[in-house]
Amino acid sequence: MNINTLLKTLVETESPSHDKSAVDRVGVIVADEMRKLGGQVKVISNKETGDHVLARFSPAQPSTFDLQPSILILCHMDTVFPLGTIQKTPYREEGGKIFGPGTLDMKAGIVIALAAVESAQRSGLKRSVTLLCTSDEEIGSHTSRALIESLAKESALVLVMEGALLDGSLKTWRKGTGGFSVTVHGRAAHAGGDHQAGRNAIEEMSHQVIAIQKLTDYEKQTTVNVGVMRGGTVSNVVPEDARIEVDVRVMQPGEWERLESEMKNLKPVLDGTSIEVAGEFNRPPMPFDERMKSTFEKAKSIAARIGMELTAGGTGGASDGNFVAPLGIPLLDGMGAVGEGYHSEREFIFADSLEQKAKLIAELIEKW
Ligand SMILES: [Zn+2]
Repeated sequence: MNINTLLKTLVETESPSHDKSAVDRVGVIVADEMRKLGGQVKVISNKETGDHVLARFSPAQPSTFDLQPSILILCHMDTVFPLGTIQKTPYREEGGKIFGPGTLDMKAGIVIALAAVESAQRSGLKRSVTLLCTSDEEIGSHTSRALIESLAKESALVLVMEGALLDGSLKTWRKGTGGFSVTVHGRAAHAGGDHQAGRNAIEEMSHQVIAIQKLTDYEKQTTVNVGVMRGGTVSNVVPEDARIEVDVRVMQPGEWERLESEMKNLKPVLDGTSIEVAGEFNRPPMPFDERMKSTFEKAKSIAARIGMELTAGGTGGASDGNFVAPLGIPLLDGMGAVGEGYHSEREFIFADSLEQKAKLIAELIEKW
């Protein structure tokens, strides 16, 4: 397999999460590559979002099949970019960097995983490798979470192919994520003729926004961000409704519960207004705990034998690794390409990290 050609094909096949047929086009290419490597491929269909593609690569010696738990590699095929982004920011290689929507997050991860399997097969696969490419990671993994968890439970190690940090560090911790939407109801009235009879929902929401922002606690690594605010219709009407969307990131146990209870107890400041709060905790935190420490140390010593130095880092961003973390299965995240500019048109990877990471993963498959 030519990894650069495959990466170009995958990046140019755009795959926004909400466009099922677009994501399925990537699924077809990926399934095809898996079959070329001799994988047993299963397509798990979805109605609303793209299908998930699962492959099992069996060891060279069938007698050892299933004696050792599999290594699970997690990829996602969807991206945050709408169709047509590729026209604005085409796939291009320049000065050792590869640009294009979804290169880092995570078309490169898929290519690296396939290349690693191919390379591990060349030296004789000693244990089975399971490769799961999902379709809805960027929108919360609602249709893939159960599958990820059940495959992880029967695995010896889970590798998440999200991009590494810019300095090449793996992601050994990630914050948990959740969100709230808050709606304030006031009372509409003519801004000139009947001002006093109105109850301004935007004014009420402004009090709430300040209270909500204050729930951030940097010491506990908890952040709360009112990211979207909408309200009112036209300037000469006292606004009846206002709505905000709030992003929440937590690292420590109990923090989500603290926020949830604070949010559910928000009280209106202005008479005659009311507040509605809905919240969802999407991904639990992935802490740098004892298990993560020992998994990282083991990977580090395996990498050192092929002359690679692994370093540990972390991020407030979540991944499917967050679902695996609470299961207590050894887990390594940030195993994909090295680069930066996540979810922006600046996104790029360092071209040479494709080969390097494929080599690292092949080694982990062999030596774990
Ligand atoms: Zn991703």
